[in-house]
Amino acid sequence: MKFGGTSVAHASNINKVIDIVLESQAKKDDIFIVVSALSGITDDLIKLANFASKRDLAYKIIFKNICEKHDQIVEELIDSKKNKNILKEIDKKYKELEEIIKNIFSTQEIPLSSLDVVMSFGEQLSSYIISEIIKSRGVLCEFVDSRNIIKTDDNFGNANVDIETSYKLISECLKNKHNIVIMGGFIASTKNGTTTTLGRGGSDYTASLVGAALDASAIEIWTDVDGIMTADPRKIKNTFLIRDISYEKAEEMAYNGAKVIHPKAIKPAVFKNIPIYIKNTFNPTSTGTLISNKNEKIK
Ligand code: ASP
Ligand code: MG
Repeated sequence: MKFGGTSVAHASNINKVIDIVLESQAKKDDIFIVVSALSGITDDLIKLANFASKRDLAYKIIFKNICEKHDQIVEELIDSKKNKNILKEIDKKYKELEEIIKNIFSTQEIPLSSLDVVMSFGEQLSSYIISEIIKSRGVLCEFVDSRNIIKTDDNFGNANVDIETSYKLISECLKNKHNIVIMGGFIASTKNGTTTTLGRGGSDYTASLVGAALDASAIEIWTDVDGIMTADPRKIKNTFLIRDISYEKAEEMAYNGAKVIHPKAIKPAVFKNIPIYIKNTFNPTSTGTLISNKNEKIK
């Protein structure tokens, strides 16, 4: 199950996500959750690096806002008696990020490898925080750093996944885990352990890789719309929800700009013939879109 940025944007949405996860857990066996950064955070992190490289002190405000947004979620969703260690843990991450930003400030340069590290903090933070929120409810949940199981080349910003190595690492790490497992999308690392990212919107791809490596019964992409529509509803009237679509058509639509799913997320599912469901976190009972090897059915 992959939850996008709006699904984890703030405390009340994260509660919705947890309800969906727990309901699903009650029905199925093992659940692996992939989360994006909180809505807008990846853009903020890029801005943070850009401002610092220009020696614009406004970077300090952006940095503070990023930290406050994450702290606020922990404070709202985890009892103050239990949240001290978690706040301390994420404070360590802020310090790590601050070091990198200070370096960018002093060199006035952003190597692509540093930008990947900076961007990775969005998913590092969201996945860790949400795992702790779930744990604080008394539900067994394990956090996994996706950088240890998704391996790529060093094409920073849009790294190419070493499928064979990654599938091996994913299944070694996850196949015997029976609690809820949660990890960040989008982030990965080279074989030397240098942080990389999979391209904007790449969390869908992470979910699909994990699903394929584990021969999952389904890959669910939870977003903020009901599914794939016949056209962009913000631009065109009378659009319809597509309830069933082939892998081929979905991939074609994604490559042509349909934003609901990352184009790279289709292939891993095709090879293992795993159905992909697009579902709406804010309308979970809606049928959604099923992407599979069957034919289209327009509602
Ligand atoms: N957080 C990353 C982005 O904004 C990846 C994702 O959301 O899928 O592009
Ligand atoms: Mg997305």
